[in-house]
Amino acid sequence: MRQLSDRDRERLRWMQLYLRLPACGVAAYFPDDASCEQRMVELRWPEGMHCIRCDADRIKTCHTRKTFRCKECAHEFSLKANTVMFRSRHTIRDWFLAAEEHITLHAFGQDHLDTGHSMADRHCVAYTTAYRLRVKLACELAHDHSLLLTSICISELQVPQDVVQNDFDFYVWLLDTCVTQRQMRRQG
Ligand SMILES: [Zn+2]
Repeated sequence: MRQLSDRDRERLRWMQLYLRLPACGVAAYFPDDASCEQRMVELRWPEGMHCIRCDADRIKTCHTRKTFRCKECAHEFSLKANTVMFRSRHTIRDWFLAAEEHITLHAFGQDHLDTGHSMADRHCVAYTTAYRLRVKLACELAHDHSLLLTSICISELQVPQDVVQNDFDFYVWLLDTCVTQRQMRRQG
């Protein structure tokens, strides 16, 4: 039986994440900024929003500035505060889409396209902007409990019982399933 290389093992994780993305794609599943923001709120504060400084639950929403203000300590914060997206000019939806792209490239073994230059070309942004985004994404997505990751990996992986996990069969099953998923997504 063929043994998995370290690179294959790395790819196992990315393929599993790819299969947990929305089947219709992140762009269709989260069609606008509001849907992305709602997802973030649900994940960060499943029992209702709390102040990120004092944890009080009396929060006022400032719709025009897209910020929240704590009625206890007067701290004003945005949804991006205390996340990898803090102080970024990109919208939360931009981050969702970039994370999907990062996962997809690595799931399909296209690691060579995950560079600052390549991202700058694809997104028509300056190299430094793309480079910074790439570095932050790579750090963030390395953690299984990453907020960005859990935001877009909406489903659990369904593995057939006859596929043994973490060996060559599992790798082959993931590979086949990812290719099928991508074809279905392209056919839309
Ligand atoms: Zn507070």
